[in-house]
Amino acid sequence: MKRFIAFLLSAILLLPLCACFQEGALPDATQTHETEAPKNTQSPKNGKTIVVDAGHGGADGGAVGSNTGVTEASLNLAVAMLLKDELLMRGYDVIMTRTDEDALADTKLEDMHQRRDIINSQGVDAVICVHMNKFSDAAISGPMAFYYKETKEMEKFAKAILDGVCDSIGRPRRHANPGDYYLIRISEPPCVIVECGFLSNPDDEAALQTHEHQLLLVQGIANGLDAFLFGEGA
Ligand SMILES: [Zn+2]
Repeated sequence: MKRFIAFLLSAILLLPLCACFQEGALPDATQTHETEAPKNTQSPKNGKTIVVDAGHGGADGGAVGSNTGVTEASLNLAVAMLLKDELLMRGYDVIMTRTDEDALADTKLEDMHQRRDIINSQGVDAVICVHMNKFSDAAISGPMAFYYKETKEMEKFAKAILDGVCDSIGRPRRHANPGDYYLIRISEPPCVIVECGFLSNPDDEAALQTHEHQLLLVQGIANGLDAFLFGEGA
């Protein structure tokens, strides 16, 4: 019960320490994205375009694992690439914000602005930002999802994604959390930040580095996306 109360408190107060969503003026940004093949051309999900955003990259490694020193940026990329494959297999079109360890630009501000331009490019139906969490209390564990607080549609989206992840990895469902982060605030399509687990928790840190757990995460995210766009059990 103490851990549950601690989680509730953290859910209210916690800002994911890895999130580095900066604001600023709007420069002219060069759009760099790619749509990958092959995909399932027989699926009714054709025509839906999903942006998969692997958080951080380059000099910004994000959170660091307490025991192993693994960087969040590398885990985000691994999960995002698996998510791309899963979504393509299900018939979605996928746009990646990054497909290697590099950032999108030399400065964090420009990097975020380029992500913004990809997210808000024409024809995008939903956006999934992949992150890993960190907190001062190592007991806190499990996935979280953040949506922009003033947008009910995004709350519904975040809850669907988080339900999918919790069901897939075998944890009790949780509430999604409101947050005022740059990408979820400026995104025109439904946009969620998925915090896959806590790199400050030893069990999460170990699990997040296994291929098996990463596959469960992406299947859960994809199930949540299906449910949001096409109804429960789609
Ligand atoms: Zn992060």
